[in-house]
Amino acid sequence: DSVINRIAAGEIIQNPSNCVKELIENSIDAKAKQIQVNTKQNGLYIQIIDNGTGILKENLEILAERFTTSKLRKYEDLEKMSTYGFRGEALASIAEISRLTVQTKTRDQLFAYKAQYIGGKLIEEPTTLAGNQGTTITIDDLFYNVPMKTKTMTNDQFSKIFDVVSKYAIHNHRISFGLKKNDEKNNVIKTQPSDTPINAIRLIFGNNVANALIKVFIENIGLKFNLQGYVSKTDFNALKKGQFILFINHRNVESKSLKKALFEDVYRKILNVSVIPFIYLSLEVDPRSVDVNVSPTKHEVHLLNEDLIVESIKNVVHETLMKTNE
Ligand code: ADP
Ligand code: MG
Repeated sequence: DSVINRIAAGEIIQNPSNCVKELIENSIDAKAKQIQVNTKQNGLYIQIIDNGTGILKENLEILAERFTTSKLRKYEDLEKMSTYGFRGEALASIAEISRLTVQTKTRDQLFAYKAQYIGGKLIEEPTTLAGNQGTTITIDDLFYNVPMKTKTMTNDQFSKIFDVVSKYAIHNHRISFGLKKNDEKNNVIKTQPSDTPINAIRLIFGNNVANALIKVFIENIGLKFNLQGYVSKTDFNALKKGQFILFINHRNVESKSLKKALFEDVYRKILNVSVIPFIYLSLEVDPRSVDVNVSPTKHEVHLLNEDLIVESIKNVVHETLMKTNE
């Protein structure tokens, strides 16, 4: 069984940054207010420390088994998912292809528990120790048993991890995020809880970027969607800081059509801007109108009424930029 499981796991967890994304989503689902990500060895070592709800001792045994989830109760829940996870596949997949350690304490349990897994199996009874509320997940030797993966992991994985942490830190600006690389003393990313995403953008990408941004928003009752975000002004010229960060219903996704509409049509063709803009958008739509991210590796989304939504966003971005140029 194990070879097939490992191949399947390698499909779900394609690289260290996928792993970081899944772990951050679990910490957010657990209502953490602080999330610290520590990485080493080009992302083959990942540790994530949160101060969320923690995991009950009795759930540690089955934690790394497939389809173990505490989040999905009924099929109908799928339609109104408020948590990221619901498949129970992430930890099981990670455990299959790494050495996983989970240390966790709930509010009501007196102790923290530490559980170690190899190949997805708990290797011994969880040990008891002192600790604070929350969960620390440590992943060692990612892909150690997936030889074809370790070969492709020689190129830089940290920049992809940086990407994931920065996007989640901007979107989840009420949570403080840290990201450390290779035992360096200082965090590469360090954000503070804030009421707006701008502070996280400033801390991660600097004043040049943050000061170049203007707010865009749509509250569209008719088409049933809301949009909030920031776009860079037309004279923005911070080299290589261009970004297109999109969250739909709080999931980080890609949309080629929206990106093209804004980068190509609005900025390049209409406004004649040659540098890559910085755009962060949070779109909320009726959950029934977005194809649920069934496969965790599938990031490209499609929406019902996509053309209309893209057109409205294009218009509002264009109008907002024109107004600031007046
Ligand atoms: P899913 O998120 O789809 O439920 P995962 O494999 O990502 O599946 O996680 C399995 C379960 O482990 C979760 O449903 C949750 O109960 C628990 N869990 C994982 N990470 C954490 C965490 N950081 N804090 C609390 N519980 C967690
Ligand atoms: Mg999950």
